[in-house]
Amino acid sequence: MTDYNDIELVIKSRIPLIVIESHEESRVVDMMRQIAINIGKPVFKWSITEGLERIDRKMAPQKHNSEPTDVLGHIKAVKSPGLYILTDFHPYLDEPVHVRLLKDIAIEYEQTAHTIVLVSHQIKIPAELAKFSAHTQLALPTKDHLERMVRDVAKEWAEENRGHSVKTDPKTLGMLVNNLSGLTIRDAKRLARNAVYDDGAITQSDLPNITKAKYNLLSQNGVLSFEYDTARFSDIGGFIKLKKWLTERRDVFYGKKEVQHLDTPKGVMLLGVQGCGKSLAAKAVAGTWGVPLLRLGFGTMYNKFHGETERNLRESLKTAEVMMPCVLWIDEIEKGIGTSDSDGGASRRVLGTLLTWMAEKKSAVFIVATANDIEALPPELVRKGRFDEIFFVDLPNENVRETIFSIHLKNRDLDPQKYDVKKLSTAANGFSGAEIEQAVVSAYYSAHAQDAELAMMHLLDEIRQTRPLSIVMAEKIDYLRNWAADRTVPCD
Ligand code: ATP
Repeated sequence: MTDYNDIELVIKSRIPLIVIESHEESRVVDMMRQIAINIGKPVFKWSITEGLERIDRKMAPQKHNSEPTDVLGHIKAVKSPGLYILTDFHPYLDEPVHVRLLKDIAIEYEQTAHTIVLVSHQIKIPAELAKFSAHTQLALPTKDHLERMVRDVAKEWAEENRGHSVKTDPKTLGMLVNNLSGLTIRDAKRLARNAVYDDGAITQSDLPNITKAKYNLLSQNGVLSFEYDTARFSDIGGFIKLKKWLTERRDVFYGKKEVQHLDTPKGVMLLGVQGCGKSLAAKAVAGTWGVPLLRLGFGTMYNKFHGETERNLRESLKTAEVMMPCVLWIDEIEKGIGTSDSDGGASRRVLGTLLTWMAEKKSAVFIVATANDIEALPPELVRKGRFDEIFFVDLPNENVRETIFSIHLKNRDLDPQKYDVKKLSTAANGFSGAEIEQAVVSAYYSAHAQDAELAMMHLLDEIRQTRPLSIVMAEKIDYLRNWAADRTVPCD
């Protein structure tokens, strides 16, 4: 990422071809105009629609140079130095003649000192030009810059509203600025305007909308989803060790406490028996820490975007970093990173990308990866040090089952005190959390069908009729437990 000074330095260091990938063309153009004035070079802007135009002085566009070949020929022929911004030139880089003309201009830099700046949302530079070029992205606005922008928006609103000032407090203003970071100034301004103009105030209630709008701006491919529905740990029975583990790390994750020799927590893997609350726990991490939850469906990414999985993963990780602090829940992690080489190495590369990112990550993006199928998990991923901890989520024990019954009765506005949850728990030996919930729901329906209040009888009947997974898949669960015994930490 580059800011104004860095770009000026690159230009001064006599690099003929500067490639800037950005959606903010007008910001780049303004910056270039200023730099060109500073270094005393005339500056021109070209687009296929407007042709070539000198922009440090007002002059009419030279329509005759609107064709890509013509404009490059023209630049090559000019003998006095100039800075040329070519906007959206990327489709024309496929033409050998354009590549050669650009190379000619670059080679002649010593004589003509032309700097060409290519600005597009995405540019792939041909190998012939790589050695003459510097590739850069525009730095995103700093917090100071964003705060100034928000204050300007507030001033604007005050002027339009007969001098009333925008109501806010420093803490909320700080949180707004934090939430806007990672966006371009144009997008951030739009969101700040939305927050101010609805009611002339910046309040806590504006913040979730900003987070949501920011997410919508960042994520277009649908692989990463913003989960509105988080949970609290009080919604989950068990998971005692995980809760404690997370509580101990909360302040370090937030950067509130800098503790020597303690790194920012990276993430955990939750591995275990189906229906025992792994997904619910991932949601509860975000809910408890009060940060957005982003869900990356590995299975979907792999099926829907076959061949582009790696790029999608990179983009999703970038989005997550912009949304930080956040929880990134990688659901069914084993689905996207198979252990076989049958797909031409694609899933291996995806694994490599993920592991490198995890190893280098300094950002407050906390990963919660969930998995059921240990057979499909590559050994590299579960090796010590990748995740901070691998938790094993087993079938709930007798006490935890009692809590789960209570939670699901309460969720349906029923008073657990009126039921013998201990007896229910004993009867539901071997049930997963999902099966307990299912039993409560089905019993509730049968009671309703009989026009009766839900009674112990209905619940016990349902329990008796269920053949839990622990019986159907006894062997598989035993295998999972054995595997987990010396590789993971139990959740309870
Ligand atoms: P899978 O591996 O099949 O995706 P999972 O382990 O992620 O399953 P969840 O999807 O979290 O399990 O569980 C399904 C539902 O079962 C939850 O939404 C919740 O209602 C209930 N449930 C499971 N475990 C618990 C628990 N420990 N406490 C409370 N509810 C639970």
